[in-house]
Amino acid sequence: MRVLLTGVAGFIGSHLADRLLADGHEVVGLDNFLTGSRDNIAHLMEHPRFTLVEQDVSQPLQVEGPFDAVLHFASPASPNPLSPYGYPNLPIETMQVGSLGTFHTLEVARRYGARYMLASTSEVYGDPQVHPQPETYWGHVNPVGERAVYDEAKRFAEALTMAYHRKFGVDTRIVRIFNTYGPRMRLDDGRVIPNFIGQALRGEPLTVYGDGSQTRSFCYIDDLVEGILRLLEVREPYPVNLGNPHEITVLQLAQTINRLVGNEAGITFFPERRQEGDPNRRCPDITKARTLLQWEPKVALEDGLTRTIADFRRRMGL
Ligand code: UDP
Repeated sequence: MRVLLTGVAGFIGSHLADRLLADGHEVVGLDNFLTGSRDNIAHLMEHPRFTLVEQDVSQPLQVEGPFDAVLHFASPASPNPLSPYGYPNLPIETMQVGSLGTFHTLEVARRYGARYMLASTSEVYGDPQVHPQPETYWGHVNPVGERAVYDEAKRFAEALTMAYHRKFGVDTRIVRIFNTYGPRMRLDDGRVIPNFIGQALRGEPLTVYGDGSQTRSFCYIDDLVEGILRLLEVREPYPVNLGNPHEITVLQLAQTINRLVGNEAGITFFPERRQEGDPNRRCPDITKARTLLQWEPKVALEDGLTRTIADFRRRMGL
């Protein structure tokens, strides 16, 4: 396949490009490096089946077809307002890439008759009232909350993707990605795993927001990429959750990372939760992915964290 992949220099995009190239495909990777990193794709620059197009997907696209697949994975994705890469600090860009970027990539897919995949998110469920979250749950999102720029952009993107499917018959897919982690996440990304690993490796206390009783379910990047490729091979326009159903509290995560790193500085609690709308619980119901794709995550949290810690250690020069 000849694949157009937006967000190629991002955490998920770069791993996806590696896998597509390893499977023999050609990748035209697009990025404007707003939150993506050149280091993530430095090893691909000489690859004969890889081309980098440096462009903002929110502007009309200057790309040469044909394409067999268009994968829209560009977006800021960290909710942390303390990080320069957090979407609260990139609110307009986040809304543009979710709306205009989705529109432009869908147009490319329509023009070339390519299959299409939208990278959506568990954030479409907001602060969910149903556990675990199945794809049929409509969510609980505050449209004017601090997370709305991301959540609503992705909800709009899903609606637009369905509109192109229904009106023009574009062969679309929507993957709702739950918390994913692994090598290449930005050291200053601001999300919980990069923050905790960075703090632990520096011998600092881990910053737990609130009492740490909020839960998440963390999927290792290789498992996610496998699920994405399987979804690309089936025809299913309705959303599919991909994530690891193993749910843990943020406090348990902090304790695990401190133990794996051997950090004795412990934990500092910040009594206020980071932001209003920070979900209390999040856990995917992956029944649909299990049935449709015969997929489930294989990498246990401690194994994935060990690999991620090794990558962070190397990049931090330790
Ligand atoms: N969190 C934390 N300390 C940090 C970073 C995040 O306690 O240094 C918490 C955050 O408040 C949230 C959870 O960890 O409840 C996951 O946050 P993350 O930014 O990874 O993304 P989210 O899952 O909220 O989209």
